Amino acid sequence: MFESLSSRFTSAFGALRSRGRISNSDIEATCAEIRQALLESDVALAVVDSFVASISEKSLAILPTLQSGTNQGQVIFEIVNAQLIEILGGSARRLRFAKKGPTVIMLAGLQGAGKTTLAGKLAKFFADQGNTPLLVASDLQRPNAVTQLQVVGDSIGVPVFAPEVGNGVGDPVKVAQAGIEFARAKQYNMVIVDTAGRLGVDEDLMKEAIRIRDAVTPDEILFVVDAMMGQDAVRTSQAFLDGVGFDGVVLTKLDGDARGGAALSIASLTKRPIMFASTGEKLSDFDIFYPDRMASRILGLGDVATLAEQAKKAFDSDTSAKLEAKFVSGEDFTLEDFLEQLLAMSKMGSMSKLLSMLPGSGAMKKAIDNFDEGEIVRTKAIVESMTPLERRDPKVLNGSRRARIAMGSGRAVSDVNNLVDRFAAAQKMMKQVRNGGVPAGMPPGSPAMSAPKKSVVQKKKSKSGNPAKRAIEEAQ
Ligand code: GDP
Repeated sequence: MFESLSSRFTSAFGALRSRGRISNSDIEATCAEIRQALLESDVALAVVDSFVASISEKSLAILPTLQSGTNQGQVIFEIVNAQLIEILGGSARRLRFAKKGPTVIMLAGLQGAGKTTLAGKLAKFFADQGNTPLLVASDLQRPNAVTQLQVVGDSIGVPVFAPEVGNGVGDPVKVAQAGIEFARAKQYNMVIVDTAGRLGVDEDLMKEAIRIRDAVTPDEILFVVDAMMGQDAVRTSQAFLDGVGFDGVVLTKLDGDARGGAALSIASLTKRPIMFASTGEKLSDFDIFYPDRMASRILGLGDVATLAEQAKKAFDSDTSAKLEAKFVSGEDFTLEDFLEQLLAMSKMGSMSKLLSMLPGSGAMKKAIDNFDEGEIVRTKAIVESMTPLERRDPKVLNGSRRARIAMGSGRAVSDVNNLVDRFAAAQKMMKQVRNGGVPAGMPPGSPAMSAPKKSVVQKKKSKSGNPAKRAIEEAQ
């Protein structure tokens, strides 16, 4: 979402870094460029002015104190980074749990902001951490909101308290109250109350939200806002703050391509932290909002911390340990291992999302946008159409086997050939790396190359000594 802002920051600092000594007028020029970039991204004027004034003041103060030889551009960059983290809310705040359960979370926001979807995401997130959430369907206005919540709840195995069908029928305050009592009686430790929005801020909406708030005394009121809304996001958040009040913000639709700067102004203007971020329609497209990671993305440094966390989640420790042991022992990396990696990668989310977390991804934007997500699915289909023997030993893949695989995966034989060739090349490269060699195309002296040579025991692939097993293998 913040690509254009990110590319403006990257170009402003590129120019600054290329200078040996930085003068006051360089700082002024950079500040003017940052100001323009923020305004064009829809960041609220008051936020822009205080942001730029603070950077200018801090940079001009530090400049005369810098020793020669210091990378002055980097020092200014760090000032901007720190300031950006601050307008995004400083350090991430965790949800406050009630001392005596259940912890009550109330969602508030306009219709279509993504509250119902978020209710499911929050429930899954906290259930995965060992909590026992209950979803309460108090959006009795929006058509199908109750059913939508039930479907979401079912999909994640979280119960939904929904005594009314909604669609304009029922009292949302009574439902919310009864939901809390139910949670208490059944000992759920958390209640997430979905409430109705309206298309715009109106008095009815605020009154209903206030009545629900007073009836359930939430531990956290989370204001849910669509980051694609532009300047309206700022006005709406102010109206909700003055009306029902809230403790934290959730930005949704951060995967969109709107300018998004208004959303970045909300924490600073409302003095409420952004606590979570939603980046897609799937329940897994959700995370805690980390101001420092977001600042890092905006400044073109990527978000390696999130990438590493996702990889850790996707590659369970068994898979990683198994692959590592194979690599060290000199066993071949097979198509079976490759399939396991593909499955883990698909658990991490879309490839373009992953690539966009890499430092410098702004410069690769076009390639990332054009990345064909279907490629992974197609490759998976080909490998899944192979027998275990073929995956372990692709050398057995003669013409008729390849034709069968192509038919089974709905691909052309040339796609199968292509995959097998690419896999053979990758396998060869891994062998070279393991043996301490330098694969073609890689610079010598890279860390993998300079690792001490391990004594590698090259195991010869042998057919099973058990005749029955060997017959099965040969039949495969
Ligand atoms: P509510 O009226 O506030 O309950 O909004 P919903 O939860 O029904 O969401 C409205 C629409 O936005 C639905 O189509 C959701 O699938 C979609 N949506 C919700 N969150 C996101 C998000 O983070 N990214 C994208 N792209 N769509 C989202």
